[in-house]
Amino acid sequence: MSESLPHAGRLTIDLDALQSNYRLLAARAGPAETAAVVKANAYGTGIEVAGPALRKAGCTTFFVAHLGEAARLRAVCGDAVIYVLHGLTAGSRALFANLQARPVLGSQAELAEWHSSGGGPYGLHIDTGMNRLGVRFDELDEFVIPNSPPDLLLTHFVSSEAPAAAINATQRARFAEAQRRFPGIPCSIANSSAFFHAERLPAAQYRAGYALYGGNPLPGLPNPMRPVVRLEAPILQVRRVVKGETVGYNQRWTARRDSVIATVSVGYADGYPRNGANTDTKPGGHGRIGGVLCPFAGNVSMDLITVDVTDAPADLAVRGGWISLIDEVLDVDRVGAACGTIGYEILTSLGHRTQRLTKGG
Ligand SMILES: *Cc1c(COP(=O)(O)O)cnc(C)c1O
Repeated sequence: MSESLPHAGRLTIDLDALQSNYRLLAARAGPAETAAVVKANAYGTGIEVAGPALRKAGCTTFFVAHLGEAARLRAVCGDAVIYVLHGLTAGSRALFANLQARPVLGSQAELAEWHSSGGGPYGLHIDTGMNRLGVRFDELDEFVIPNSPPDLLLTHFVSSEAPAAAINATQRARFAEAQRRFPGIPCSIANSSAFFHAERLPAAQYRAGYALYGGNPLPGLPNPMRPVVRLEAPILQVRRVVKGETVGYNQRWTARRDSVIATVSVGYADGYPRNGANTDTKPGGHGRIGGVLCPFAGNVSMDLITVDVTDAPADLAVRGGWISLIDEVLDVDRVGAACGTIGYEILTSLGHRTQRLTKGG
């Protein structure tokens, strides 16, 4: 950890927790391999810090969305197996070769292009119901593998966080059919929640993203993962407001009692969603000071949030003090819900302006 920069919020990435989450998932998946999904800057935690920490925890296969992410990961993980989920795009062939990265292909045209330009290891994505990327499960009859078979056969669950949803069984049945068509090819299944399904397909590999970074793979149940991300903001000013006065843009929050308001140096430009506003008509986000939950007061501004700290310890709710906005209590799932979104979006929005610190690893 280094000293804080004036005014900047600080984002602390707990690499010990990240590694412990990897080990927990790997133990659940075993004997299948656990691959780490590190797209979107490792879900906002930083590909350059998360990649090597995961590699050190025993991860050998990584998935990214874009080739640019593959380049960043290759620079810090020389020996990793890297798959690029978005596949082959025009002009990307040489980059795959330079980076020793493998595309995840999802159509006959992509496959033909890959082979005609020299081929090499690749994954084949079977779309069992997402209707997004991959070869449709019902088009496998006509699907021709021209040369070398894929190194990995992948599919992705639509609603893995709701294990009872009927689509899970449908997807399992469709993927089992694909497995019969391509015997002997290692299979890769996602996503985080699938590690916890009672019913599982035989697979050589499971892919995890969100749960690695502390997201709850079991919505509605206690989170088995350790929190990885902490977001804190310095308090710039503490002010008194009188009952009946409003705080912030557009008068969206009215003091129902004489109150103490702390103005803190994080806003939507730091990745905290504007929709976290706590108003007279809609609940929103919280911060914590000395362990006390303090509701926001009004809008989230670009660079600032105003927080009702009336009930916080007065010695901590002071200019120069710190408030936590994401922590072990205000976890990414809870913050996502308070902002009308999901923890995934919270994680991937963070860190563009905040100071970044790492712990452990
Ligand atoms: C993002 C992604 C994952 C990881 O999903 P999580 O829900 O974050 O665990 C796995 N596979 C594919 C194809 C993905 O796009």
